[in-house]
Amino acid sequence: MKLLEDRILRDGMTAGPGVLKVDSFLNHQIDVAFLDKLGEELARLFSDSGATKILTVEASGIALACAAARVMKLPVVFAKKGNRRNVGADVFAADCRSFTHGTDYLMTVSRSYLSSGDTILIIDDFLADGNAMRALLTITKEAGAAVCGIGIAIEKGFQGGGAYLRGEGYRLRSLAVIESMNDGNIVFGRENP
Ligand code: 5GP
Repeated sequence: MKLLEDRILRDGMTAGPGVLKVDSFLNHQIDVAFLDKLGEELARLFSDSGATKILTVEASGIALACAAARVMKLPVVFAKKGNRRNVGADVFAADCRSFTHGTDYLMTVSRSYLSSGDTILIIDDFLADGNAMRALLTITKEAGAAVCGIGIAIEKGFQGGGAYLRGEGYRLRSLAVIESMNDGNIVFGRENP
């Protein structure tokens, strides 16, 4: 999506090896009108998916998921991040390694909001190694829900998540795919290889 690529080139900042900061429009301050356009594009890409619910993970996936959900007229459920100490039997849970913090956490979703009757579209802001997505997929599997697609704003194609998910046969659509970002030089690849 050229609009997103242009915005990344204009406002994105590399922050260490393999990390992109888009805090000025997506991850800290949010450009809501811009985000609505990303949501509209995700809604268009998954218009025939049969989704009954959108699943994302706190915190930065929520705004994008809501932008798509508004157009698709679907509810959004977001997974919470916590630890094993305070987890009850009333949740679906999966361990996850945080890309940005390098620590492990427990991802949970209440059993009240996911069930075998759901067809889930998973949405997140970034796809890197795919650990967050693996945890979300574990949770949907535990719930017995079907997954009809995965929508991402920014996929970093040089990290392994996209290749893994496509290899597993998931309908993965990324609005921008970064092929490389060496020395702050961002190069985009094909959106949906
Ligand atoms: P993964 O689990 O695929 O390795 O990483 C995806 C998660 O880590 C996303 O939910 C996102 O919040 C965060 N993330 C991964 N890479 C980046 C990045 O380059 N920049 C930012 N801001 N977040 C990232």
